[in-house]
Amino acid sequence: MEEKTLKFASVSLAVLAVLVCALFPALPKLHTWQVERWEQLLAEEEYAQSQTQMNDLVLRESGTMNGHEGQLKLRLPQGVTGDIVSVVNDYVTQTVRVEIPETDPGYFDSYPVSGSSNHIAMLSYATKSGGGIIEIEMDQVYEIETEYDSEYYYFDFLTPQEVYDKVVVIDAGHGGRVPGATKQGVNEKDIDLAIVLQLQEIFAESGENIGVYFTRTDDSNPTFDQRVQLANKSGADLFISVHNNSTRSGRFSSVRGTQVMYDETSEASRNFAQICLEEVTGRLGSRDKGLVEGDSIYIIRTSEVPVALIEVGFMTNKEELELLRSEEYQRAAAQGIYNAVLRAFAEGY
Ligand SMILES: [Zn+2]
Repeated sequence: MEEKTLKFASVSLAVLAVLVCALFPALPKLHTWQVERWEQLLAEEEYAQSQTQMNDLVLRESGTMNGHEGQLKLRLPQGVTGDIVSVVNDYVTQTVRVEIPETDPGYFDSYPVSGSSNHIAMLSYATKSGGGIIEIEMDQVYEIETEYDSEYYYFDFLTPQEVYDKVVVIDAGHGGRVPGATKQGVNEKDIDLAIVLQLQEIFAESGENIGVYFTRTDDSNPTFDQRVQLANKSGADLFISVHNNSTRSGRFSSVRGTQVMYDETSEASRNFAQICLEEVTGRLGSRDKGLVEGDSIYIIRTSEVPVALIEVGFMTNKEELELLRSEEYQRAAAQGIYNAVLRAFAEGY
């Protein structure tokens, strides 16, 4: 009896040891999934709260008989001129919001939108006091060209590739109620965003015909799917996510430097990540902490575009945290990323 118990105990122990060994490489991934799941839930909740309740709007198809092929026409309400209609293209959700003031609610049921359904995933509207809003949800990212006459407001849809030589999507990590790494009252989301806003300025001043789309330029928190779909649905040439690092314990340590995560199933992603690593460390003079396999990260795994997730520095390193908080360092990081993009294009991306 005693022998049997002993045997059972040792077999159980051996099985347990094998299990732990087998699971061990997956533990960081499990941690990532858990953190991502929590961030995703908060992002979905924030997004749902920001949404207005919309009603379906029916498109009156008129083929290509009037106007250009693929064009959409909005009949202006009685007494409303084109100059008071406002049009905002939200690239992150591929939705064009058309605000029409001074309009009777009945207008929205009178088939005000006609034309081609070529680029349209869904049409909807909501009324509010003294007017209403029409949302045109598109099937991918488009640039919108508009014009109007006394009767109609016209929308033409151009792919980013029709407008720009090259297309890049830049993602500032986290946002909203999700701070990312936190240290001494500093939130990673703010540093990520500060670097991305510097990058936005550098691109704007560059004079290059590069279309740059941002998942966020404020403290919003798009879902992981919205972030990666901006890259996939714009047919981007490159997708860059900007983050900052922390040690697992979150305590201050001597660990510092720049890391870049890539998609290990894509050679293009690996090579682009290497370019980012060289250009960013070169510009910052930061320690090269190498490339890291990132397939456990949702936006890396699901990107159809060569992707690099740059961990610029460690917030858990005192000196590096100070640097990351300074505008000069943020600017230098942005300059490094910009150089990486230009080099990647020069190398055929
Ligand atoms: Zn992060």
